[in-house]
Amino acid sequence: MSGRSEHEGKVARIAQRLRERRSSAPLCLHKRAVSHMVPKPHDLRHTDEKIDISDLDQILSIDPVRRICVAESGVTFVDLVDATLAYGLVPLVVPELKTITVGGAVAGCSLESMSFRHGGFHDTCLEYEVITAGGDVIVCRPDNENSLLFQMMHGAFGTLGILSKLTFRLVPAKPFVHVTYETHERLDDYLAAIAAHADWHGVDFMDGIIHSPTKLVLNVGRFVDHAPYTHRHDRWRVYYKSTGRRREDYLRTEHYLFRYDRGVTNVHPFLSSTAVLRLAERLHRWLPADRPRVTLDTFLPLSRVPAFFDWYRREVRFFPLWCVPYRRVRDYEWIRPSFFAGLTDELFLDLAIYGMKQPPGKNIHRMIEEELARVGGIKTLISHNYYSPDEFWSVWNKPNYDAVKRITDPANIFRDLYSKTCRAAHGMSDAVNP
Ligand SMILES: Cc1cc2nc3c(=O)[nH]c(=O)nc-3n(C[C@H](O)[C@H](O)[C@H](O)COP(=O)(O)OP(=O)(O)OC[C@H]3O[C@@H](n4cnc5c(N)ncnc54)[C@H](O)[C@@H]3O)c2cc1C
Repeated sequence: MSGRSEHEGKVARIAQRLRERRSSAPLCLHKRAVSHMVPKPHDLRHTDEKIDISDLDQILSIDPVRRICVAESGVTFVDLVDATLAYGLVPLVVPELKTITVGGAVAGCSLESMSFRHGGFHDTCLEYEVITAGGDVIVCRPDNENSLLFQMMHGAFGTLGILSKLTFRLVPAKPFVHVTYETHERLDDYLAAIAAHADWHGVDFMDGIIHSPTKLVLNVGRFVDHAPYTHRHDRWRVYYKSTGRRREDYLRTEHYLFRYDRGVTNVHPFLSSTAVLRLAERLHRWLPADRPRVTLDTFLPLSRVPAFFDWYRREVRFFPLWCVPYRRVRDYEWIRPSFFAGLTDELFLDLAIYGMKQPPGKNIHRMIEEELARVGGIKTLISHNYYSPDEFWSVWNKPNYDAVKRITDPANIFRDLYSKTCRAAHGMSDAVNP
């Protein structure tokens, strides 16, 4: 663990660099850990000027009594879990890939199998320190004068400033996780089981693999003190496949949390997710620009899943899907209120596709965007996005976004959210500005 004054020195260096910068050209972050944005061949992040934040990678404190951790934004979840487990604690939301960072988890909307109770990682955070484009340092919390900045950092993909320090909650953990696999043949029964488990406090973890339209497996996990045996899933034993074969399993807690690290469903037995993404980053020019593989997350209110699934099994027909129930802990400020109007669902479902090859003549990414708009869902922006500006800002909240952007990045050096995720990611520069 490193000290607060060392942290202040790092922040001062980054802030000074921003204050002294004269160029208005777009600026992108250079962190130590690999990026988990879906690799794209022409993404301008490869060529944009970088600001180096790679030394923001230390845990600053763990308070085992208040169950609170303070960490720099570049701390990876694998290092974080290692440090907190020493106190018998874990973060409330641990994304499944080892080198996702706490800052990236907030900026890019991370979630996982405790999300049915806690929402996203952002929802477990108490405070952020943010460095603005002009080199100011702002502390934001849900209850201080910077509360809108606090809420808008979630899903801003680095366009509203640099997260330098995060304060977030921890929960007590046990050494093992016991997982039971419940197989359903009908989507209705599957969704009913998700809703029932979500209301019952005896469950610690819940996610699922939809192997096919008639084989839907729900993975229900509980912390336990003892295990009759344990398995880890990192070479020949592929986690998602085991969910279709086994009735139950026991995993050490740290192995449970990163059970998908060799790939959620598109598995590389010899390579970790980090190695695959590093390779893709190095060789990005050779990635296919036409018909890129589909890796994306869709978010649907539980009541809208049947309509989407009905369309999906007719038009896309790609399985398995990873599915993660997600509690609607607040109506997020970065989404327009009209999205939530009339919606009574307390649970959303993330249906995630990994590595689907696109058939010729179809743009599955775009088809999914259109279908989500029809049924009332949304997707995360880590993948290939084809929205028009009007479509985009009819879901994402432009008034709130602009209100924060005016304070933290008025010269737009971090690009705006639409330009970064829908244009620059495809190699197009900022012809469209907010
Ligand atoms: C194959 C694959 C599998 C995935 N699996 C999961 C999963 O199991 N669970 C899950 O929750 N998510 C998953 N994701 C998505 C992942 O959570 C998000 O992409 C997340 O944003 C990655 O964080 P990162 O630390 O790698 O950040 P990066 O990828 O480096 O950055 C993501 C975005 O956040 C911004 N950003 C990063 N750090 C900061 C900072 N300090 N301040 C401000 N902005 C910042 C970047 O500019 C960028 O726009 C997956 C993605 C892929 C490609």
